[in-house]
Amino acid sequence: MLYKSFISISVLAFMSACSAPDVKEADANTAEKPAVQAVAAAAQTAQKADDSKPNYVLKQTDLGSGVYMLAGQGGNIGLSTGDDGAFVIDDQFARFVPTILENINALSGGPIRFVVNTHYHGDHSGGNAEMKAAGATIVAHDNVRARMSTDNENKLWGRTVKATAPEAWPTVTFSKTMTFHFNGQTVDVMHTPNAHTDGDAIVYFREADVLHMGDNFFNGMFPYIDVDAGGSVKGMIGALDTGLKTSGPNTKIIPGHGPLSSRADLRKTRDILVDIQKRVQARIDKGESLDTILQSGILSDYSDLASFIDEKNMIKIAYRSITGQLK
Ligand SMILES: [Zn+2]
Repeated sequence: MLYKSFISISVLAFMSACSAPDVKEADANTAEKPAVQAVAAAAQTAQKADDSKPNYVLKQTDLGSGVYMLAGQGGNIGLSTGDDGAFVIDDQFARFVPTILENINALSGGPIRFVVNTHYHGDHSGGNAEMKAAGATIVAHDNVRARMSTDNENKLWGRTVKATAPEAWPTVTFSKTMTFHFNGQTVDVMHTPNAHTDGDAIVYFREADVLHMGDNFFNGMFPYIDVDAGGSVKGMIGALDTGLKTSGPNTKIIPGHGPLSSRADLRKTRDILVDIQKRVQARIDKGESLDTILQSGILSDYSDLASFIDEKNMIKIAYRSITGQLK
């Protein structure tokens, strides 16, 4: 029940990350024709109106040892505070950065040193340029920079996600793992291959025992898996397994979307995804077409998990991931 309220937040976040608003912002960067400039100006006006909204609030959750979760629209933010300054995981959207910075400054008091992007999606990396301007070094997997610097065709949504401006690209990238020693924490940043995308990272604060899963973990809802950007059901299950191996019974787990979670929540999500994969695989093995499987209602007992990703999109994602067919 609790996650119902997060679903509405999540839907807004995804709508912003995956549909029109993102395209408008990206188009504004490359606008050449007057008509496009007019659209860009309208988008800027709309953005200014959003910036001046006094009611954007981040929910702060104290996880101990100077670590916090900040939840609002867009991906959940992780924050480490202490003598070394602020270490941030994900930065939502550019228009929310003033509020994000207010929260960080109030909790940290020190400079923002690092922002780690868990992946390239705009609801997790949309504030990068503003964070850089505030003094942060942006860190992410190699493929995050690669994807942010080129156009990405998304066949599931039937649109192209435009490259972002260079100001938003990570300046430090890694291929497998990296470790920060910061605020008395040993912070493991680990790449999980071909999971939600091809550039995901999970972040574990060893001493605080806090794990940020990025969008490898949607708590209480069907997951979005960006198959067009190298994501896969198999890889996402692998990422959830890595999360289970990394965490212990008391680990506080920040999902990419949804409420603060436990290891038991992570296991439940993993088991459901394994079950979904099995059900779709069984239909494919019987020779059924995607259209037939979509009409079958094979996920109807999971209807509570429907949000931005409904049952049909979940089947489509699993089908495309398993067969490699980009329909
Ligand atoms: Zn994402």
